[in-house]
Amino acid sequence: MKETTLAQIALTQDDTGAIANPIYLSTAYQHEGLGLSTGFDYTRTKNPTRQVFEDAFARLEGGVASFATASGMASIQLVCNLFKPGDEILVSFDLYGGTFRLFEFYEAQYGIRFHYIDFENPDAVKAAITPQTKALFIEPISNPLMIEIELAPYYTLAAQHKLLTIIDNTFLTPYLSTPLLDGADIVLHSATKYIGGHNDVLAGVVTVKDEALAEKLGQFHNMIGATLSPIDSYLLLRGLKTLHLRVERSQENARRFASACENLTGIQDVLYCGRTGMLSLRLKPEYSIDQLLRQLKVLRFAESLGGTETFVTFPYTQTHIDMPDEEKDRRGIDQHLIRLSIGIEAYEDIEQDFIQALEKAKEVSTDDTF
Ligand SMILES: *Cc1c(COP(=O)(O)O)cnc(C)c1O
Repeated sequence: MKETTLAQIALTQDDTGAIANPIYLSTAYQHEGLGLSTGFDYTRTKNPTRQVFEDAFARLEGGVASFATASGMASIQLVCNLFKPGDEILVSFDLYGGTFRLFEFYEAQYGIRFHYIDFENPDAVKAAITPQTKALFIEPISNPLMIEIELAPYYTLAAQHKLLTIIDNTFLTPYLSTPLLDGADIVLHSATKYIGGHNDVLAGVVTVKDEALAEKLGQFHNMIGATLSPIDSYLLLRGLKTLHLRVERSQENARRFASACENLTGIQDVLYCGRTGMLSLRLKPEYSIDQLLRQLKVLRFAESLGGTETFVTFPYTQTHIDMPDEEKDRRGIDQHLIRLSIGIEAYEDIEQDFIQALEKAKEVSTDDTF
């Protein structure tokens, strides 16, 4: 069972009986003689602590190899190295702002072309495939609009056209979904979020199920050098041990919160796909988001997700700052939208804090002030 695997992930198997993994800080490894190696030479290439995390993670995802990187963006960059000028990648329309920024840069600088398509519509995706199309890059739950995309049709489509399917599974985690087992080629995460889970480690991880692809990415990983440090690798192992508990609890809190918000007068739209702890709310225009954020006492106005604490984010000027305003408006990422990463606190505290802040956020209209 997944829960047991997670709780007991990567138990040490050395002679000491130690339960927790040692952290190997050494960057260099001594050799007995020419041509001899313990398997470890230099930490950028391979580090024992990072290796334990990568092996355990690959098993969790149903892949052959994982590559732990210094951030989620470094994972996305690692994967981008598979493509060359003129290649086309079809990207789900409503995605993480930092990914959009990187893709825009790669298009301008290196001529890799990214086309943003509405993946809710498989016909639109199919129509966009050309002989230059090499991959589909999909966030299964769109950000910040929280629309869940059905992936199965894309695995079939990708197989027909020999495309790589790349899934950014940050929101779902391997606890809720393992796309490699369903047909994806590459799964990546910002491990800064649910996998680390405590807002104290910046990391990413890429996992593949094909040996040839694993070999290529392994070379890039070593060559580029944005590999994960031993301490951060350890922190990810520690985070994984409670992944199931944290995801279950934040999901339960989010489900309750989403249904409570349906009945609040200040809320125009509740955007929640029914899974994960992530949801967005569109407030009515007469409510001040600035006031709401200032009044919060339990919830935190901070820009990340997937931690134990409930965070509120304002995508318009935070996660999606680099998206042109017209583009944001076209996608419905407007100035009344907030995104919440619901944490694992007592549900009542989350609800009460939000409601008290919302009540104070209603702007006094000129009609009421005489
Ligand atoms: C945060 C995030 C990233 C980027 O990860 P970092 O660890 O911040 O570099 C990529 N994709 C998604 C969906 C994210 O939420």
